[in-house]
Amino acid sequence: MPTYDYDLFVIGAGSGGVRAARLAAMGGARVAVAEEYRVGGTCVVRGCIPKKFMVYASEFSQSFKTARGYGWTVGETSFDWQRFLTAKDIEIARLSGIYVSNLENAGAELIHGRAELVDAHTVRLIAQDRAVTADKVLIATGGWPTLPPGLPGVEHAITSNEAFHLPELPKRILVVGGGYIAVEFAGIFNGLGVETTLLYRGPNILRGFDNDVRAHLAGELERRGITVILGCHHDRLEKTDAGIVSHLSSGHTVENDVVMFATGRAPNTKGLGLEAAGVAVDEAGAVVVDQFSRSTVPNIWAVGDVTNRINLTPVAIREAAAFVETAFNDNPQAFDHQQVASAVFSQPPIGAVGLTEADARHAGHRLDIYRSVFRPMKVTFYGGEERTLMKLVVDHPSGRVLGCHVVGPDAPEIIQMAAIAIKMGVSKAQWDATCAVHPTAAEELVTMRSPYVAAGMSQGG
Ligand SMILES: Cc1cc2nc3c(=O)[nH]c(=O)nc-3n(C[C@H](O)[C@H](O)[C@H](O)COP(=O)(O)OP(=O)(O)OC[C@H]3O[C@@H](n4cnc5c(N)ncnc54)[C@H](O)[C@@H]3O)c2cc1C
Repeated sequence: MPTYDYDLFVIGAGSGGVRAARLAAMGGARVAVAEEYRVGGTCVVRGCIPKKFMVYASEFSQSFKTARGYGWTVGETSFDWQRFLTAKDIEIARLSGIYVSNLENAGAELIHGRAELVDAHTVRLIAQDRAVTADKVLIATGGWPTLPPGLPGVEHAITSNEAFHLPELPKRILVVGGGYIAVEFAGIFNGLGVETTLLYRGPNILRGFDNDVRAHLAGELERRGITVILGCHHDRLEKTDAGIVSHLSSGHTVENDVVMFATGRAPNTKGLGLEAAGVAVDEAGAVVVDQFSRSTVPNIWAVGDVTNRINLTPVAIREAAAFVETAFNDNPQAFDHQQVASAVFSQPPIGAVGLTEADARHAGHRLDIYRSVFRPMKVTFYGGEERTLMKLVVDHPSGRVLGCHVVGPDAPEIIQMAAIAIKMGVSKAQWDATCAVHPTAAEELVTMRSPYVAAGMSQGG
């Protein structure tokens, strides 16, 4: 038996890498984890967590408006971007520090610096200019935002990475993209008082989400003052004294202070030595893995965004936990990627789990669609126009609820609970047997009596 320096070497201390390193070390394995930037990875440092702080910050402008409707006199308000950034960075440093302590307390060795594979069992530590060996290697290097290659002037644009550290809050911003990150940042900047335009080349934002959700959110974004331009893309960008001019495929130009592209992320596999180790990647550069997250090389595994399955923090964490069970505890476990709930922290936010109506129909289900669009109670009080959308996609013959889609306040919180029911495969009758909690928006989910579209009907109404 060859002897190695470590039982497990983890490359990347983000959501997936930290979880795997901790669990394996707590189980007695000799574990090292290398991190080239900051422990915590994308989620903690330039993803979920700082983004949500920005969402919280930006929501106050709406709250100030609402407060007036409830009898408050709100004095002059202003927002100090620098003060916010400082507070945000302090909190991110605190959270990153907790990740470091958790690793150390578990007994894992943290190595600061880049690591690259030399062969299946050898890892080169670039900063220390030395190589170490490991029985098993876990690639957990995450993903990285990409800019459209070859687009003239794209060097003047930023990505989400830079959006967390803008030296000053712009007056005007163009957010490019239709995915959840683009939609979230459009809401953030709009809420912070920045004149915001969202530009997307497709026919509607949030591809992959239910079509009713997509249409509803696009309307709500515009209601809140975001200019949404669809079916249009950049021909080039030009930097002028006044700002950045976007020359669009429609022939129009728009001028902004900042242009942010949120048009895609690529798995972090460049220069990682995968070829030398014999690890196969797909055409997107993602590590090819089986259901147990094992790569094409038996002792090398990969979890999280670098595998480009479902690129969310809880998924990376669950894949990591399943990896440790499989590789170290003689208990093969494959994370089930079905019915993973997700949230979009747009304003208003989205929560979704299970099949969209289109996907369910495509899969051959005969459906009953339950749908409710209403003004939330908080909004009606002051005469606001915002609408909440709730939708259930139900398989007609079995009554099983296949999908639940919510756009409105607290949707991410609501969907976490709905996800339990969807995962359990409960029927619409069982949802309805659940007594409502009143007065809430969520009670609508258990009180939608008649279908908006019933199986057999071809159109809604
Ligand atoms: C703006 C934004 C918002 C997001 N919001 C959400 C959200 O609300 N909810 C959600 O669930 N998910 C969200 N995500 C996605 C989430 O952040 C990722 O799915 C998650 O971080 C993936 O974890 P990971 O372990 O695969 O990779 P990461 O967290 O990206 O960690 C990879 C780590 O590996 C390090 N690394 C890379 N290469 C090397 C190397 N060769 N040597 C050493 N270290 C290396 C990197 O520096 C990084 O720290 C968001 C992402 C972004 C960009």
